[in-house]
Amino acid sequence: MFKDMTNPRSFPQMNMANNVARQKVLRESELDRIERNKQFPVIIVQGFGFRPQFNQHDKIHVDGPLCPSSLSKDKQCLAELSGDNIESVKAHCDVCGKNYEMPHSFQKFRQIAHKAYDGFVNSQAEIITLDVPYDAIKKEGEDETRKIRIKWSQKDGRNQAIIYFIKKDEGNGKKAHLFADFDREEVRHDSSDIHPEKYLAKITAEFKNTNVNIEYKKKEE
Ligand SMILES: [Zn+2]
Repeated sequence: MFKDMTNPRSFPQMNMANNVARQKVLRESELDRIERNKQFPVIIVQGFGFRPQFNQHDKIHVDGPLCPSSLSKDKQCLAELSGDNIESVKAHCDVCGKNYEMPHSFQKFRQIAHKAYDGFVNSQAEIITLDVPYDAIKKEGEDETRKIRIKWSQKDGRNQAIIYFIKKDEGNGKKAHLFADFDREEVRHDSSDIHPEKYLAKITAEFKNTNVNIEYKKKEE
């Protein structure tokens, strides 16, 4: 008996092996896609979508602008927009048919999106500030019973002032301290230390954009 070697159907085992190989390729490309989606989310910059990718030289390249049109409640078109040339600010979606006037030309917009993506990546890294001397005491004042001390400090790259209130007869280095965080424009205290309400009735801080007013309930002595 003679079997046609070129027809895989006559060899069920070989056919199965092909199927397994095909499934493997499909699974790997699916894993690739999931990996890429995790590593390179679609980013929205000034209302338009962009997609960071690796180019052939393993450098990050940003595709886009992508169509921001909503197809349904939670689905956007995100097809790559077309235009006459890279200097044009007029864009057209070949998929959903919408026309756009973009805030920048294709070329400029891609550069801005690239910078925005780099900024996003940078924001996820640990930040170490080198431009503020850690623990530098800026001001200190005292009388017989009390001492106040203000220090510059940094936490996670944010600049803050620490204000210490020390009652001398408290002893054992006990103190209350407040953090004035200039980047977040907020005032906090260290809950493991003496509560500032023990020394203060009211805290007012004026930052560039925010005013913070904290009033502690007056304790009956
Ligand atoms: Zn579209």
